[in-house]
Amino acid sequence: MIKANFDVFAVIGDPISHSLSPVMQNWMINYFGLDAIYTAFHVKHKDLMTTVEAMRALGIKGLNVTVPHKEFIYTYADQISDTVRLLGAANTLKNKEGIISAFVTDPYGFMESVKKDQEEFYNANVFLFGAGGAAKSVAFALSKLKIKKLICFDVVDEKVKNLIKTCKRDFKIPETFIFNELNVSLNDALEDSTIIINATPVGMVPNQNTSVLKDYAVINSNHFVYDLVYNPGKTKLLLYAEKRGAKIQNGLDMLIFQGLESLRIWTEKDLQLSQKKLYELGSIMYKELSINE
Ligand code: NAP
Repeated sequence: MIKANFDVFAVIGDPISHSLSPVMQNWMINYFGLDAIYTAFHVKHKDLMTTVEAMRALGIKGLNVTVPHKEFIYTYADQISDTVRLLGAANTLKNKEGIISAFVTDPYGFMESVKKDQEEFYNANVFLFGAGGAAKSVAFALSKLKIKKLICFDVVDEKVKNLIKTCKRDFKIPETFIFNELNVSLNDALEDSTIIINATPVGMVPNQNTSVLKDYAVINSNHFVYDLVYNPGKTKLLLYAEKRGAKIQNGLDMLIFQGLESLRIWTEKDLQLSQKKLYELGSIMYKELSINE
C-alpha cells in the first residue's frame, strides 16, 4: 500500500506515455523494498522551470528526464555534476532538502552494460553511427573504456563536427575521425573497426525495416555490434550482424543500468542487481513492449 511518507520519483518528457521507466523503476523499488513510488509526467519545454520549482515545493525526491529535455533541464538546477557540465545534458535530478542537483547516468549505463566485454574496448577502433545526445554519452563512456580510435558518422554535419571536437578536446580519445572526411569507403572503415555502435533511432519501431547499414557483408565474427535501440529487441542491424557471426547487444541493459544509477543517487543506497534479476527485469520490460525474446 502507498503511504503518505513514501518518496515520490518520476520521469518527465514530451511525449512520455510510452516510457518504460515507470515499469522498470517500480519493479526495482519493489525488489529493493523501498518506500517510494515512481510515476510519469508529460512536461512541455516551456514548463521546465516550473517543473523544477514544483519538485522543490512538492518534495519530489527524484526526476528522470528524457527527450527532448535532457539538454535544457540542468540550467534550472542549483548544482550540476562534472559530467553534466562536460556533456551539456542531464537525465537525473535529485532533491535533497530543497537543493536540486543534476546528474547524467547514461554513460554509466552504457559502461555497465558492456562490463563483461570491457577488455574488447581497450585500444579498440570503434565506428559510431549518430552524433546526438545518446552518441555523446556513449563517446564519453568509450573514452573511459580507453578505446584508441573513434570514427563517427551522422547525417547532420554540424553535429558530428561538434561531437568529434568534444571527443578530441574534452574526452581525450587518442584518434578521432569524421567518416565523411576519411578517404575510405564505409566498408573499409567498418572493416578497420572491431566495434560498431548505432546511436541513432534508425531501426526503431515503427521503422524496423530501416538500418544504418545497406551492406552487411563486411560484418564478421570479429565484430561486436551494439544498438542502443531496444524496440525491437533485435533491430535489422542486429539481426543481420548476428547472421554474420558477430556478437550483438541491444540497448535494454543500458536503459536498466542508467535507471538503477538514478535510483542509487536518489536513495544514496548501494543497490545491486544480480544477473538473474537483471534478466528477470529485462523480460518484464520486453513483455511490456510486447517483444518475444
Ligand atoms: P538524436 O538526438 O535524434 O540523435 C540521433 C542523430 O542520428 C541525429 O543527429 C540524427 O539526424 C542522426 N541520424 C539519423 N539517421 C542517421 C543515419 N542513417 N546515419 C547517421 N546518423 C543518423 O537521438 P538521441 O537522443 O541521441 O537517441 C538516439 C537513439 O538512442 C534513440 O533511438 C534513443 O531511443 C536511443 N537511446 C537509448 C538509450 C538506452 O538506454 N538504451 C539511451 C539514450 C538513447 P536527424 O536528426 O537528421 O535525424
